[in-house]
Amino acid sequence: MTEANTQPEVNIGLVGHVDHGKTTLVQALSGSWTDQHSEEMKRGISIRLGYADATFRRCPGVDAPECYTVDEECADGSASEPIRTVSFVDAPGHETLMATMLSGASIMDGAVLVVSATEDVPQAQTEEHLMALDLIGIENIVVAQNKVDLVDRDRAVDNYEQIREFVEGTVAEDAPIVPVSAQQEVNMDLLIDAIESEIPTPDRDPGESARMYAARSFDINRPGATAADLKGGVVGGSLVSGELSVGDGLEIRPGREVDEGGQTEWRPLETTVRSLQAGSNDVESARPGGLLGVGTGLDPSLTKGDALAGQVAGEPGTLPPTRNEFEMQVDLLDRVVGKEDDESGESDIEEISTGEPLMLTVGTATTVGAVTSARDGECEVSLKRPVCAEAGAQIAINRRVGARWRLIGVGTLS
Ligand code: GDP
Ligand code: MG
Repeated sequence: MTEANTQPEVNIGLVGHVDHGKTTLVQALSGSWTDQHSEEMKRGISIRLGYADATFRRCPGVDAPECYTVDEECADGSASEPIRTVSFVDAPGHETLMATMLSGASIMDGAVLVVSATEDVPQAQTEEHLMALDLIGIENIVVAQNKVDLVDRDRAVDNYEQIREFVEGTVAEDAPIVPVSAQQEVNMDLLIDAIESEIPTPDRDPGESARMYAARSFDINRPGATAADLKGGVVGGSLVSGELSVGDGLEIRPGREVDEGGQTEWRPLETTVRSLQAGSNDVESARPGGLLGVGTGLDPSLTKGDALAGQVAGEPGTLPPTRNEFEMQVDLLDRVVGKEDDESGESDIEEISTGEPLMLTVGTATTVGAVTSARDGECEVSLKRPVCAEAGAQIAINRRVGARWRLIGVGTLS
């Protein structure tokens, strides 16, 4: 890898319970603070899913794991060499809505599960997020046992055993557990080492057609900009396959809602790629990995305020169909996970029944659907807002339990 070639090539999700140190860890590894998005904000791309890029580096002549760093200068003053640039996707905020986490999961190639050593394991979202990774099939996982600076050795060992027990039988069963202090930047070399071996860059075929999941969309014009200065709408998200270049045609589905004679329908948008921003660089073409900002020729009123978040973009004519309703095979969890002690509602998960509302996450889209028919292991839903998805797509199924939407299972689009 050369210094100039720093477009991230892999997306790594940061998941785990609120306050366990996800954002602090991203900051320690990337030097940027995903909750503030200062750089993106300046460009009008502040993001709900906080992406932060980090270049992992190695100090020549030093053994692993001590050789790993994110600093350009090694302990002896020599220059470190870049190995790989990764993009961390930090599900932000205190609410840590499962919907946001789940829409992030569709663009994650692997995940770091952050678990605080100061609390018993598992806390509600620790369990909920791991279950989501499990269901969605994100297998490349590293566990960061964080805040070890706040506990003594016995407590740290105890907590480590609790984590081991908790991940047993899950997708993270064999994941390395790395004790760290994100705040004190302790053991970052061990963590980088674990990420390098557990979360490889996926093999991708650049010949596949470009497919992008939109996580955000914006109008980057200042109020009062004159028509001559007006810039086209911007769509932010991640490519999941293929390559996108300036000048390429772009179709976006479901597109926009059109009202004609009292009938509404969704029509795909078609435009061209006018500019591309990967990380903070303007580029001529981009591959999967990291946040991509796509400048288009669309009327910015179509993209403002995340209007296109959750939609799918790609080479015209290659996108999956838009669906107002669909049928899915359903796999339910054994019980509701991640429930706080003071929450009401049953812990057992009942079969899905006709008429009930479900919150469905498909790719980066979240939509509410009403169940129109439910049979054993199968159901049909009618959506409030259509989604663009192909047969075989994975759908996270959430049901209202008590006061919150809870993950109850996964669906596969028929
Ligand atoms: P998030 O909700 O998972 O993103 O958690 P934050 O990164 O916002 O961290 C929550 C709080 O824990 C903040 O006050 C951090 O400064 C603190 N914190 C995070 N990591 C560590 C750590 O390794 N050691 C200590 N002592 N505090 C930490
Ligand atoms: Mg955070």
